[in-house]
Amino acid sequence: MTTRAISADHELVNTLPPASEGGTNIFSESERMQCVTCGGKVVPVDNAIIYNGKRYGHGIAYCCENFPACDSYVGSHKDGTPLGSVAGKVVREARKKAHAELDLLWRGQGSSKRQSVYAKMANYMGIPRREAHIGMFDETQCESVLHFVKDYKDKEAKSERKKNDRLQKKSAKSIT
Ligand SMILES: [Zn+2]
Repeated sequence: MTTRAISADHELVNTLPPASEGGTNIFSESERMQCVTCGGKVVPVDNAIIYNGKRYGHGIAYCCENFPACDSYVGSHKDGTPLGSVAGKVVREARKKAHAELDLLWRGQGSSKRQSVYAKMANYMGIPRREAHIGMFDETQCESVLHFVKDYKDKEAKSERKKNDRLQKKSAKSIT
């Protein structure tokens, strides 16, 4: 295991935006976060550390202080706040898949459709809406998102069939 890690993490923290732009908030929020894999502290880093020397977007990610020995990290929003909790590869992949599937249910249909889908998902999973963020989910919860998506699609297909049946009956009536 290399110890490249983030021994220079203080330096990286200092490259975060100043307090006036929320830099301090970012740090204290990350400080409160703990790695679920190893219990290490979560620190904001230059994301080039994670992505093989290539910097993406605004360049901020959050990772376990024991990275790369512990492969837990999470990207960040445009404003630099973490996308969710840090996670190892398995959970990261599970979240990616869950997100891709869930997005298909509302993408291109506006934010109220998105809200409705998320509310239904929270209900299906038995969690409060405010906790319904894939970025915070573990592997089991991501699987449950996939089940929800399937259920949702089945119901949609069913009501679509009913609608078509009604239309057909209607048109059959108007012909006779
Ligand atoms: Zn860790």
